[in-house]
Amino acid sequence: MRSQDYDRLYLSPPHLGRHELNYLHKAIEDNWVAPAGPNLDGFERDICEFTGAEHCVALTSGTAAIHLGLRLLGVGPGDEVLCPSFTFVATANPVLYLGATPIFIDSEADTWNMCPQRLREALEQLCQQGRRPKALLLVHLYGMPAKLRELLALAAEFEIPVLEDAAEALGASYDGRPLGTFGDVGVFSFNGNKILTTSGGGALVTNNSAWAQKTRFWATQAKDAAPYYQHSEVGYNYRLSNLLAGIGRGQMELLEDRVKKRREIYAWYREQLKFVPGLTFGPTEPTGGRSNRWLTTILLNPAETEVTPEQLRLHLENHNIESRPLWKPLHLQPLFTTAPMHGGEVCTNLFQRGLCLPSGTAMEEADLRRVAHAIQAIV
Ligand SMILES: *Cc1c(COP(=O)(O)O)cnc(C)c1O
Repeated sequence: MRSQDYDRLYLSPPHLGRHELNYLHKAIEDNWVAPAGPNLDGFERDICEFTGAEHCVALTSGTAAIHLGLRLLGVGPGDEVLCPSFTFVATANPVLYLGATPIFIDSEADTWNMCPQRLREALEQLCQQGRRPKALLLVHLYGMPAKLRELLALAAEFEIPVLEDAAEALGASYDGRPLGTFGDVGVFSFNGNKILTTSGGGALVTNNSAWAQKTRFWATQAKDAAPYYQHSEVGYNYRLSNLLAGIGRGQMELLEDRVKKRREIYAWYREQLKFVPGLTFGPTEPTGGRSNRWLTTILLNPAETEVTPEQLRLHLENHNIESRPLWKPLHLQPLFTTAPMHGGEVCTNLFQRGLCLPSGTAMEEADLRRVAHAIQAIV
């Protein structure tokens, strides 16, 4: 059989359930298609119920949520924001929107997230120079909880507010508590490739009711309380539509199931590929952490196999299987060549050795087997 005869296996395609359509139908029947309405309220309530956050504001993207979240923390022109280098660019772009500068921190080898030791070094150095970063951006990459105990202790010690980018980590937890609720502000993404999707969307969660109100205000063009259009602050058009929130409501019903399935996919690959020389799995869960295993990621050790991640990726592509390199660290991006970086070996090494495997929750065992066989044929 030629490879074209197979259906393409995507990395992490949207996976809809049975109930999204009901919410959409109702919205159209009732004429609620603007960025206001019962689905929007319901979607925010669902997110609050699942995470335990007191307030949620549904927005057009996770990036928009990070943008408004940083603004809530007071980030503005000339400020500095601590940020992991090993993440998607959407984590750091809003720092630039606000005229601030990111200070990048390397990963540690277990969770692949921000290294507490490197963060301490950076904070002590900045402190000595009389510089106080305005915010700390924490990311739970690939749904893996960061070492929150250590990182949050440092944020408290140096009195830096925390924005938790849980865009990839909906449904993951730490000490039994959902990720996204540990920072002063938490952010989720409902982009098409995430564990749940509204096609495009995001959410900001916080326990601060004044902040939630402010976020709604900014997200709808910052209209002052006046009978005419009056504005005294810069606003944005960032509110999610009631239609897309309907998809979100249907998706939220599936969250537990989807996390279970992603974890099963990870466990299946691990078991099937455990004897492949030079191939290992990562990242690993920190004490108390439970990943949603959004994407299954592997590392190839050049001392044990001659196959590079790029060769494996092209080989899988020949079998009509999509795989992707790990996120290219931000300190290596042309966009950020002048930004300070603390460390860098760990995340650079991960980037050079890693690959993301198809992890969509609609995959069946035959699909997984196809990926495993293709990998075993070359590595
Ligand atoms: C997807 C993602 C975002 C941005 O979310 P969008 O909804 O696509 O804007 C931010 N940070 C990380 C780590 C992401 O993976």
